[in-house]
Amino acid sequence: MRKTLLALATSLLFISIATAAPGAVRCGKLLDVRAGHLLSDQVVVFDDSGNITAVGPAASTKLPAGVSAIDLSLVTCLPGLIDVHTHITADPAASGYQGLGISVPREAVTGVKNARITLHAGFTTIRNVGASGFTDVAVRDGINDGEIEGPRMLVSGPPLGITGGHCDNNLLPAEYHNKAEGVADGPWAARAKVREVIKYGADVIKVCASGGVLSKGDQPGTPQYSFEELQAIAAEAHKLGRKVAAHAHGTQSIKDAINAGIDSIEHSSLIDDEGIALAKQHGTYLDFDIYNDDFILQEGAKAGMLPESIEKEKKLGRLQRENFRHAWEAGAKMAFATDAGVYPHGDNARQFAKMVEWGMKPIDAIQAATINAADLLGWAGKVGTIEPGHYADIIAVNGDPLSNVRVLESVRFVMKGGVVVRNDTASK
Ligand SMILES: [Zn+2]
Repeated sequence: MRKTLLALATSLLFISIATAAPGAVRCGKLLDVRAGHLLSDQVVVFDDSGNITAVGPAASTKLPAGVSAIDLSLVTCLPGLIDVHTHITADPAASGYQGLGISVPREAVTGVKNARITLHAGFTTIRNVGASGFTDVAVRDGINDGEIEGPRMLVSGPPLGITGGHCDNNLLPAEYHNKAEGVADGPWAARAKVREVIKYGADVIKVCASGGVLSKGDQPGTPQYSFEELQAIAAEAHKLGRKVAAHAHGTQSIKDAINAGIDSIEHSSLIDDEGIALAKQHGTYLDFDIYNDDFILQEGAKAGMLPESIEKEKKLGRLQRENFRHAWEAGAKMAFATDAGVYPHGDNARQFAKMVEWGMKPIDAIQAATINAADLLGWAGKVGTIEPGHYADIIAVNGDPLSNVRVLESVRFVMKGGVVVRNDTASK
């Protein structure tokens, strides 16, 4: 019996994770994310390595011998979406003290589940910025080896932080000697920590520059790492070919992180005019997670979030949204970043409507989740647009996302690297 179940499970696994073969999709509409307009009746052709070889009008684009196109003539195709700030191994229902009961292996299993959910929601690439025990490295590798289903992932492993800071764990008293794996104080210890997380598989470095909302005993507006420490982390990471994402809510920490050469500011909540000007001058991406405020205020207490966290969010949420609008109007570069794991995985696309509500046009928000995100990741030649040489990462929705960005919340078709992940275009 056990053997039969195992065989069944294994065969199901192989059914869901097929390998690529040459193929094509025929799109009734196709969103050109660079130009910001819809093209009609287009064909996208890809090869057996899952790379796009041709895109053009259906009438004039030749299909390879033996290939018939998947019919997406009633829907709108666009590139697979990218979220540059996720915690794929985090369970949004187990915050605060509830999280202390979750082992590292259990967290990895949660990551396996959420990687699939995220991919099925149309996010074919994510940047995971913070996980315990290198669980995100394990999930990434399982996906890349074809053992489990999930998006392309860039991962950070444990986030770097100061003792007692946002990226430490401050829930237990001293006799438990509980310290998060990413804690490192002082420039050289921080450099050593960068080397260590890279040794164990990090593609990107995550650092906590300021206090945070979901941590105990600190304030989002207060600096944590010093400028010297941030500079050391950025220099070491860049020397070793990795970009750095800095968690920074606070006005001063945002400036310190930008001046230190860090590549993206996560949250960016209390950014001021000087910070926005610095970001523009340095080409630093500002990643505002402006959806999850609603979830934290409505569901956070149930999920175990500390009362102090809910209070901090009440003070911060609206200011962050106002500063998002301000920074966008001032011309700062932005990528789509949601902090998935604070709210349920798979709801990532709900942030599009918030970005539109707070000042973007739908195409701006879509560009943040495609070409801008790809640029921030350093994957501009691979993901973020539907064009030759890129992975055939294609999603499809009903209707026109340029007039109603909320159609992205109900993705009907997902393809990753030429392999169909889901296709619900036939159902209403
Ligand atoms: Zn985060």
